[in-house]
Amino acid sequence: MEFDYVIVGAGSAGCVLANRLSEDPAVSVCLVEAGPRDRSPLIHMPGGIIGILPTRHVNWAFKTVPQRGLGGRQGYQPRGRTLGGSSSINAMIYIRGHRSDYDGWAALGNPGWSYDEVLPWFRRSEDFHAGADAFHGAGGELHVGTLAAHPATQAFVEAGRAAGHRVNTDFNGAEQEGVGHYHVTIRDGRRCSASVAFLHPLRGMRPNLTVLTGAHATSLVLAGKTVRGVQVRMKGRALELRARRETLLAAGAFGTPQLLLLSGVGSEAELRPHGIALRHALPGVGQGLVDHPDYVLPYTTADTSLVGFSLSGAAAMARALFEYRAHRTGLFASNFAEAGGFLRTDAALGRPDVQLHWVTGIVDDHNRKLHLGHGMSCHVCVLRPQSRGSVGLQSADPLAPPRIDPDFLAHDADVEVLLKGYRMARDIMAATPLARYAPRELYADKVRSEDELVALLRRRTDSVYHPVGSCRMGRDEMAVVDHRLRVHGLERLRVVDASVMPTLVGGNTNAPSIMIGEKGAAMVMEDATPIH
Ligand SMILES: Cc1cc2nc3c(=O)[nH]c(=O)nc-3n(C[C@H](O)[C@H](O)[C@H](O)COP(=O)(O)OP(=O)(O)OC[C@H]3O[C@@H](n4cnc5c(N)ncnc54)[C@H](O)[C@@H]3O)c2cc1C
Repeated sequence: MEFDYVIVGAGSAGCVLANRLSEDPAVSVCLVEAGPRDRSPLIHMPGGIIGILPTRHVNWAFKTVPQRGLGGRQGYQPRGRTLGGSSSINAMIYIRGHRSDYDGWAALGNPGWSYDEVLPWFRRSEDFHAGADAFHGAGGELHVGTLAAHPATQAFVEAGRAAGHRVNTDFNGAEQEGVGHYHVTIRDGRRCSASVAFLHPLRGMRPNLTVLTGAHATSLVLAGKTVRGVQVRMKGRALELRARRETLLAAGAFGTPQLLLLSGVGSEAELRPHGIALRHALPGVGQGLVDHPDYVLPYTTADTSLVGFSLSGAAAMARALFEYRAHRTGLFASNFAEAGGFLRTDAALGRPDVQLHWVTGIVDDHNRKLHLGHGMSCHVCVLRPQSRGSVGLQSADPLAPPRIDPDFLAHDADVEVLLKGYRMARDIMAATPLARYAPRELYADKVRSEDELVALLRRRTDSVYHPVGSCRMGRDEMAVVDHRLRVHGLERLRVVDASVMPTLVGGNTNAPSIMIGEKGAAMVMEDATPIH
């Protein structure tokens, strides 16, 4: 089969690409997704995240290699495996990062990626609940709204204020710092994933767009240094999808470098042990992986209106399911991570260096460890960790999971910031406005000395799900793509997803990935030459 464009991966960036490139009816586009269609009700009901996060349901549920900074523990890396990719399983928080993150990208030698230059692409996709302003767009495909939050969420925000932090009503506005309610990609009580926003409205409308699900890309089709398409495994059969114009990799921070390596694009040292011939030397493929290391402070409470497991909790959940089915409101219309904050652990810093996610239930080990009773949690993560890891191959089998090593807390500076952030989070949780919930922190009661605290952090820290940078944009020898997202040294191949981020932004990564999809699509169209 032949198309003008073949896009690998229907995630946050891939869905945007498919939508924008197929706007021109004369252009044929094929979107290739390894996972199934996004039919599961757990995807669309925001509260369904508690069922998806810990399981393999529409989730690759990868494991990392043992982490030296986490006492040899293996980390957990959920990733969406369905239309919408990780935007179909994420926590729906809409955050762009700090303006200086993008100015930093431009300063690293990536023209066109400064904050002022990416802002129009964020605004283009957006349908902000309060209408357009200098920072927000209206009328776009991606709904950005608010939640009917639990009263304890407001108490958390008040606790932040009592602990000395400013209250921020728009983390994506003029100033990121402060505590406040999150904006969310939820519309009328339903998840607004990249698939819901950018693919669903096109159903039956664009004969020039082919969406293949259950189609796992296994390698690139290379003719010398020109990419002619991809090999795909679908229903047990091999299929070649040829791209007349370009092949666009949007398989995410793990899937994209894995596919490049399987195709012989990378460093010889990574390929040789797996018997894969080097087709194009690009040592940066898979290197430079960076993710937010995150510690969750879980608390038990006497209050049973918070999410939890008890007799009354089970009854409340059953009632909430009925309410959700009837009105799309209530407990299950929430993402549970309703508020948070961006704080500076040192007043001398020019921007926040830790982020908080406040949750209306007990979160322990990605919800894989359940507790009897009710509670609340506060995540704290290091926004710009120094530790760098990698993505590689475990095997030449394209269906095997990639080797993932974020190398969390390998750098002492990351431990220091996490420790300060932990203390700030604990101060907020101890402030008067939350006292009526009588929160009792789990795991910390026997911890006295700083060494014991560091040991606790290393025992329980893991990802807050923002891996990026494994096919980094730049000009240096470890860069994989240039500022127009073209893979260095190969023709007709781009990477358009979270893996191109030159540095990890100070915030969640769905909106930035969607922005990369928008800007990437525009660059593909600008560079398109007529084909006869
Ligand atoms: C549990 C969780 C919670 C999160 N919470 C938030 C949040 O609240 N807010 C936020 O901003 N960010 C959040 N994120 C992060 C955010 O969702 C991701 O950074 C973003 O979706 C990444 O987009 P992407 O396009 O790079 O990749 P993805 O969206 O992951 O898409 C990659 C797609 O490629 C497919 N694929 C992979 N390999 C192949 C192959 N070989 N062949 C075919 N298809 C393939 C995958 O199945 C997937 O559909 C969260 C992530 C997770 C996992």
